[in-house]
Amino acid sequence: MSTTGRHEQPRVLFVTLGCAKNEVDTDRMRSLLLNAGFLESEDVDGADVVLVNTCSFLASATQESVECTLELAEEAREGVRDLPIVMCGCVPSRYGDDLPDEMPEVAAFVRTDEEDGIVDVVRTVLGIPRMEQLASVGSRTTLRTVEGTSAYVKISDGCDRFCAFCAIPYIRGRYASRPREEIVSEVADLMEGGVREVCLIGQDTGVWGSDLGEGDTLASLLRSLSEVVRPYDGWIRVLYLQPEGMTDELVSAIRDLDEVLPYIDIPIQHCSGRVLASMNRNGDAASYAELFARLRREIPGMVLRSTAMAGFPGETDDEADELLDFIKREELDYCSVFEFSPEEGTAAARMPDQIPDDVKMERTQRLVDAAEQLGFDATARHVGERVDVIIDGIDETDDGPELIGHTWFQAPDSDGAVHVSVGDVAVGDVVTCDLVDSFCYELIGEIVGEGDGR
Ligand code: SF4
Repeated sequence: MSTTGRHEQPRVLFVTLGCAKNEVDTDRMRSLLLNAGFLESEDVDGADVVLVNTCSFLASATQESVECTLELAEEAREGVRDLPIVMCGCVPSRYGDDLPDEMPEVAAFVRTDEEDGIVDVVRTVLGIPRMEQLASVGSRTTLRTVEGTSAYVKISDGCDRFCAFCAIPYIRGRYASRPREEIVSEVADLMEGGVREVCLIGQDTGVWGSDLGEGDTLASLLRSLSEVVRPYDGWIRVLYLQPEGMTDELVSAIRDLDEVLPYIDIPIQHCSGRVLASMNRNGDAASYAELFARLRREIPGMVLRSTAMAGFPGETDDEADELLDFIKREELDYCSVFEFSPEEGTAAARMPDQIPDDVKMERTQRLVDAAEQLGFDATARHVGERVDVIIDGIDETDDGPELIGHTWFQAPDSDGAVHVSVGDVAVGDVVTCDLVDSFCYELIGEIVGEGDGR
């Protein structure tokens, strides 16, 4: 400890709330701080500063972020040392001007577009002069910590679509693609570090490159990334493809590039043309049915995931039924369901005909039940297949340890897992398994050999 009461090499506790995109942002700040000589702390007791990366996608997420930050501040107050809290991410981006008055417990607020300056912020709250050198940390330059077998890679930030229910464009700003070279280099580092699968994320991945040069399309990025992951037998999974982004070029790339998984994640939110127009989105049941049919024709055996929203203002009983029938009829493999929540500052929050809470809940529950049944059925359809499984970890169960992994048709953190008896394999290995049984979203696998791709 120094005379200021902090460690010679100050330690940062990172707390991340919200989605995978936030995990990626925390990773970036973590790497910047570690490269600047800070160390990571596993808990509050060992920390000199806490960095909370917040989520504000829904009002409930904002509330959770604020409560978590206040709880940490309370813990810090009870501790013997001064422990400043730095609040980052979506909550400061959305409510920045009001926060210093409302949350005096917090030492600094960092908006999403200010996160590259996190080192200076943390130095300031800890009172470390700019000139003071922290202990050398060698030549660590990667902007990503590599943990686990799958990694999220953010290819863009922000969104230009302004869906009426969504606060993201106000929080994250206008759409901005990351340069191709930066993404390629990050994926190369990840593969070199032992990652087996990269999941490309952004608010709207399909239009990657539209703000860059001619020829910069998601399909062309996938071609570049396929070259990078091929020597490692790596997988590329693309998430958050808005329907408008499914160009012929992209469909062909997903079909033709072996490294790109035939796993299509298209959030539709609704299928009624009237509700979609009111959401400031395009399409209707006929156009989405046509899109799904085209995808199934072009990419045989593909897995389809989507997102549906219940209780948007003005949604009638008939329109709610229409959505329920649609997701059943289209036999989506996986579908996430959201209940509409009137987010401050969005157009939908000011719309008349808000749906009463009990009706919204009932419509949400019906969609959840249907989505669950679709997911269970889709999972069961894979029983009898022989597939490659990436081993992600070991779980302790009542019957002893078991390996947990996932296949090409299961996105990490979303779609269930494969449970495999412990064998002579390690986390990160790819093994070929026979899928012998299923329960809910889970599959039971028996190892039959070393994996060789998918
Ligand atoms: S496309 Fe997604 S992130 Fe963009 S405004 Fe619509 S819901 Fe929000």
